[in-house]
Amino acid sequence: MQVWKFGGTSVGKPERMHSIRNLVTATTGRKIVVLSALSGTTNALISISESAKANNVAEVEQKIADLKAHYDAFIKELYQTEAGLQKGQQVVESEFSYIRSVAKTRPFTLKQDKEMVAQGEIMSTQMFEAYMQEQGESSVLIPALDFMRIDADGEPELEVIEQLLTDMLAPNADKQVIVTQGFICRNPRGEVDNLKRGGSDYTASLIGGAIRAEEVQIWTDIDGMHNNDPRIVKRTFPIRELNFEEAAELAYFGAKILHPSTITPAKLRGVPVRLKNTMEPEAFGTLIANQTTDREIKAIAAKDGITAIYIHSTRMLNAFGFLKKVFDIFEKYKTPVDMITTSEVSVAVTIDNDTHLEAITAELREFADLEEHDHNLSIICVVGEFKADNEGIALKVFDAMKHIPIRMISYGASEHNLSILVWTKDKAAALNALNERLFYYEDAMKDIFSAQ
Ligand code: ASP
Ligand code: MG
Repeated sequence: MQVWKFGGTSVGKPERMHSIRNLVTATTGRKIVVLSALSGTTNALISISESAKANNVAEVEQKIADLKAHYDAFIKELYQTEAGLQKGQQVVESEFSYIRSVAKTRPFTLKQDKEMVAQGEIMSTQMFEAYMQEQGESSVLIPALDFMRIDADGEPELEVIEQLLTDMLAPNADKQVIVTQGFICRNPRGEVDNLKRGGSDYTASLIGGAIRAEEVQIWTDIDGMHNNDPRIVKRTFPIRELNFEEAAELAYFGAKILHPSTITPAKLRGVPVRLKNTMEPEAFGTLIANQTTDREIKAIAAKDGITAIYIHSTRMLNAFGFLKKVFDIFEKYKTPVDMITTSEVSVAVTIDNDTHLEAITAELREFADLEEHDHNLSIICVVGEFKADNEGIALKVFDAMKHIPIRMISYGASEHNLSILVWTKDKAAALNALNERLFYYEDAMKDIFSAQ
């Protein structure tokens, strides 16, 4: 069985929902189809909640009326029969009367907030399922609220999900398409909760992991993960294959296409994740799996808003326990460290959240000398499979960077990442230079030599 997830824009227009039906029924094999809310709906629901919290009744009414008008128009185009439209109208009417009743609840607490924001996925899936029924497809809707569970820390409980989901799938063995909601879940108090914004990808990966799916496919409207940031770099291309570690590095370093925790459950159970484009379903997309056969250097990504802190251990030269003292302070202030470099007497670290910078540096000064920290830095991260005996990754990287000032370098912690810290003002130049050197230079050289 495969798990296919479609995001907000992929369900955001009636004709796009028609395409989803075509896509999921075009190939054989049973599928679990995970849907997001129609694009714009989650934001609209959050905005209704804000007005409700502010007790602005007129504003609540207006916002609900606007959103409902959108759904009324949507279903008129979605369904092709009178019976289908009637079913769609039932869904929309009953959902909006529920939204109204939640908006009227006082006090309007976090519980109402979460009930409200869940309605987007609940509507999109009911509308899609009614459309599948209208078209005579073999399909069933199973509510995510009946199997998606998080613990008290908001972490998904994979074993519980596996058990509940397996029980729910058993009586539906004859169905080709099983529709469910992304994003939403229940917490240990049994209340409606969610996996945070953009969480539908996470749902798909959790389901894939839970049922040990053949593959998880995340359908969007871009052609997979790119080798570099297309907004900054002229020539980019979709990456064909990535391993889980590389994908995690890229997601963390800002490739917006995937939420960083998304692939964890799939990775845990070895389920491949494929990124696909609804506009170009024939295209290969990006395959994330345990093993790859692709090129050595896969991608370049950058993360802005970095602060570097330079710490000298003059008074503790040769002392062990120095790094422990340093990191205890970052732990105390729950501030993750991204990059570290060390020399015999100094340590430099970077952080991307400087909320507690003052307190952290004050405590560090109790046992170390600090140089003035730097702001406005960016981490550039080159991701790939760098075997220990690889030929000159570092040489290529520094060749590209020869005109760009480098603040820090980190290489060797994993076989998948070489990170360089630069001034943010030099980021675009660095990304472009690396792109040319790492992805085009060798081919250009080959062309020159073969032409001779
Ligand atoms: N609808 C939710 C959001 O907009 C979840 C998702 O789309 O992944 O954040
Ligand atoms: Mg998304």
